[in-house]
Amino acid sequence: MIEQNRYDVLIVGSGPAGLGAAIYAVRTGLKTAVIDRSPVSGGQVLMTYEVDNYLGLPGLSGSELSDKFRMHADSLGAAFITADVQEIENAPGKKIVHTVEGDFEAKAVILATGASHSRLGVPGEEKFSGMGVSYCATCDGAFFRKRTVAVVGGGDVAVEDAVFLAGICEKVYLIHRRDKLRAADSLQKKLLSLKNVEVIWNSEVKEIVGEDIVEGICVYNNVSKERSSLGVNGVFIAVGIVPNTEPFQGMVEMDEKGYILADETCVTSQKGIFAIGDIRKKPMRQIITAVADGANAVHSVQNYFMEQ
Ligand SMILES: Cc1cc2nc3c(=O)[nH]c(=O)nc-3n(C[C@H](O)[C@H](O)[C@H](O)COP(=O)(O)OP(=O)(O)OC[C@H]3O[C@@H](n4cnc5c(N)ncnc54)[C@H](O)[C@@H]3O)c2cc1C
Repeated sequence: MIEQNRYDVLIVGSGPAGLGAAIYAVRTGLKTAVIDRSPVSGGQVLMTYEVDNYLGLPGLSGSELSDKFRMHADSLGAAFITADVQEIENAPGKKIVHTVEGDFEAKAVILATGASHSRLGVPGEEKFSGMGVSYCATCDGAFFRKRTVAVVGGGDVAVEDAVFLAGICEKVYLIHRRDKLRAADSLQKKLLSLKNVEVIWNSEVKEIVGEDIVEGICVYNNVSKERSSLGVNGVFIAVGIVPNTEPFQGMVEMDEKGYILADETCVTSQKGIFAIGDIRKKPMRQIITAVADGANAVHSVQNYFMEQ
């Protein structure tokens, strides 16, 4: 292993958790690198239209906030590597991070690979992915200017997406399988005040249909048991997230959903491996809690080094 690829700490993921850990690690004097498969830092924050709940920086777009996070880490001298991490090997006194672009070595590894969208799992979803089916309203919403779209889901992300799309599209249907939304009250109020949004309650999308692009959806009402069709040009799916922990299966303990078991100290079942942000089993997955995990993990890394 060439010296250049050896670090005190390697952080996998450059979302808010990874970048938060990076600034604490560098300021502690640790030789630190952040590895991300994307050359653009920010993770899920990049998919956010507006972040209004990050302390001290209200109202920034997701990409503005991500830029600020990355610039902060850059200004302190964190190194950044673009590579997709495949596996982590536990070698005596060190960890080897295997990536498609080569191997990197560190005394400790902080996992911060976040989460990705869940799929709906209905016919037409895969076929029309990128042809009218999207998982990111802020990324793809502009393609549906003055058109009709459906958003599927009932949590914060679904409602945020519907509000955002209402500003671009002629008509937005929000399809929710229950009779109440799970989103924050303030978001719900905003949504229900919009004239071009219609909530289709107690309903599930059973199929996405069209010839070459999306032309409509088949909806099933789980109370009346009736089926109906809606003509839409786009379908935005916001039905939850799954942790990106596949490369670490068998390396650290996880729950049944794949979230890594670690408390606030971010210490995992594997010595020298720490888990932060959305991949950790915890009650609140937000930018501010991800950044806080980054700070806590570096404190734990220091304790780990002292014990060695
Ligand atoms: C649409 C949307 C809106 C949101 N709005 C808000 C909001 O308003 N306020 C708020 O506080 N939170 C919001 N959230 C939640 C917030 O974005 C997340 O809680 C936060 O981004 C989690 O940070 P993270 O660093 O743990 O993971 P992520 O942000 O998911 O970053 C993970 C990083 O790891 C990288 N990665 C993954 N796998 C690998 C691999 N194998 N190798 C290398 N790199 C890898 C990814 O490329 C990514 O850059 C929103 C989320 C979404 C999707």
